[in-house]
Amino acid sequence: MSVWALLVAAGTGERLGQERPKAFVGLGELPLLAEPLRRLDDSGWIDAIVVAVPAGWEEPAILLAEELSATKVVAAVTGGATRAESVRAALAEVPDDALVALVHDAARPLITDAVIERVLAPLSEGWDGVVPGLAVADTVKSVDGDRIVTTLAREKLVAVQTPQAFPVPTLRDAYAGDLLEATDCASLVEARGGRVKWVDGDPRLLKVTTRADLELVSSWL
Ligand code: C5P
Repeated sequence: MSVWALLVAAGTGERLGQERPKAFVGLGELPLLAEPLRRLDDSGWIDAIVVAVPAGWEEPAILLAEELSATKVVAAVTGGATRAESVRAALAEVPDDALVALVHDAARPLITDAVIERVLAPLSEGWDGVVPGLAVADTVKSVDGDRIVTTLAREKLVAVQTPQAFPVPTLRDAYAGDLLEATDCASLVEARGGRVKWVDGDPRLLKVTTRADLELVSSWL
């Protein structure tokens, strides 16, 4: 089976308050992007990697891959204005004979082989997608401005992370139409009636948004 990783790293990361895009902010000695790139390249489950980066950062991304000897990186493409557009740009590089696409947020640097295996395994049972999720500890409410509309049943909720895995044709169908307001890939597959399974996520797959998140991830390294 050939598994292509799509590493989306084209966000601006404004909330980090740094000059450079989030994927190129330092995490330890190297840019943040280095950590998920190295981990995906080292994974025995992954055959090829496409990275989506902000315009003007394609060459630095390729140089970083060379510095890491990340030989599975086949392209660094220009991302889009939204995450979904960045995924679409990366997906365009995936050949038709590829079987599985594993889409991952570069902003979640601490991807492990264990979670990659958990999201890949159920695809052989016929699922249209598999996502890692965590039970929700807080009570979650739906709101309209400052008014609470309703309280959601917590036992029916999971907070969803990446990597998310899909058969390539299913992901291509999902990205062929309107990208809606999709904040993850699975929502587009679900919108087309796809059956998506969730498996255990990992608290260390925290998405780096703020300076404090960066420090926390750095302390886990
Ligand atoms: O900002 P958000 O939470 O949507 O970011 C999730 C992931 O999507 C990050 O890794 C970010 O770099 C990526 N992204 C992207 N292109 C965008 C916006 C976000 O590749 N236009």
